[in-house]
Amino acid sequence: MAKVELKNIEKTYEGDVRAVSAANVVIEDREFVVFVGPSGCGKSTTLRMIAGLEEITSGELWIDGELVNDIPPKDRNIAMVFQNYALYPHMTVYENMAFGLRIRKIANAEIDKRVQEAAKILSIQEYLHRKPRALSGGQRQRVAVGRAIVRNPKVFLFDEPLSNLDAKLRVQMRTEIAKLHNRLKATMIYVTHDQVEAMTMGDKIVVMKDGVIQQIGSPLLLYDHPCNHFVAGFIGSPPMNFLDGKLRRDGERLLAEGEGFSFVVADNHLEALLKAPHPEVVIGIRPEHMGIAAQDQIDNILSAHVTVIEELGAEAHMYMSRRADDMENLIARLEQRHGYRIGDNIRLSPDMERVRYFDAVSGEALLGVIGPIRMSSRRSALAQG
Ligand code: ADP
Repeated sequence: MAKVELKNIEKTYEGDVRAVSAANVVIEDREFVVFVGPSGCGKSTTLRMIAGLEEITSGELWIDGELVNDIPPKDRNIAMVFQNYALYPHMTVYENMAFGLRIRKIANAEIDKRVQEAAKILSIQEYLHRKPRALSGGQRQRVAVGRAIVRNPKVFLFDEPLSNLDAKLRVQMRTEIAKLHNRLKATMIYVTHDQVEAMTMGDKIVVMKDGVIQQIGSPLLLYDHPCNHFVAGFIGSPPMNFLDGKLRRDGERLLAEGEGFSFVVADNHLEALLKAPHPEVVIGIRPEHMGIAAQDQIDNILSAHVTVIEELGAEAHMYMSRRADDMENLIARLEQRHGYRIGDNIRLSPDMERVRYFDAVSGEALLGVIGPIRMSSRRSALAQG
């Protein structure tokens, strides 16, 4: 199995379309790394460059200690699973899985062994003699994964493999791929626009936007310490709340003030915020840190009225607005049986020690990013530990 390393990789398409800028990523042997970002951010292009399906404009790609920029896809020892699984309709499941091995002139006995083994891992033994049209979407996607497994690749690449499946099946396949990773102990690189998939599957997540890597880190590092406003808003569901505010000294205290609120900056944030380049900040509050104020509480209050309540059983998501027009969507995550109703006026109180702050101009996190892996969206160099 293999380590994959992207060193300053760039991709410019014809017409000067810069799809990927200075990508620096180390994917360790046996790691499950997810590239995530909105549509058009360059994640598929990155994956296709690793696969060898797209020429690398500049930079170096290393797989298992070998510089592979000029190595054709078939000699890179990788296998790719696509969104549209593209099975051959006239071949049985068995033949679909065996086909790539036959082309490589592998002996029949060996092909049979590998196909049976993969079928067992994926629980599709009983479908081996069916044609793809007699399979469900999930079963077809399993066959597509099987086609990759039989090749015994150094690296598995997945390009949005679950987006054609319905919601329930997607959750199930997500777990199956995670289990497959544990079982095969292979290096896997997975591309998706779905941050929930990224959070639930990745050992490490690479967040991209406009061709630029924003941040690399474990799911919890990205959740707790997003490096900028974009990552903070992209990772997490329901998303982080953002309030425009301004920092102001008030004697010993530092206040973060905005429309209808005056928060006292918590002691653990003072040092960093006193160095903020601009007083204008964006205050980020996760829905689970949007608490309800105690009756006698005076500080750190945010008043809003309830516009929508989503009861999810174990918890509820309460949507609120500070304004009469309801255009704003502040979200609080509440425990079940909370007793609130639409139209109620609420006194919210964010957990000030857990609040995040971003520079209103650059979007950069002002509290610094804990953890070894961090990249500024404005710099192209990547510091990775
Ligand atoms: P993602 O996978 O994140 O949705 P892509 O990697 O497919 O994004 O695309 C990144 C950018 O490169 C987009 O702006 C897209 O329009 C552009 N792009 C992708 N493929 C081509 C191509 N063959 N020629 C020109 N531009 C392309």
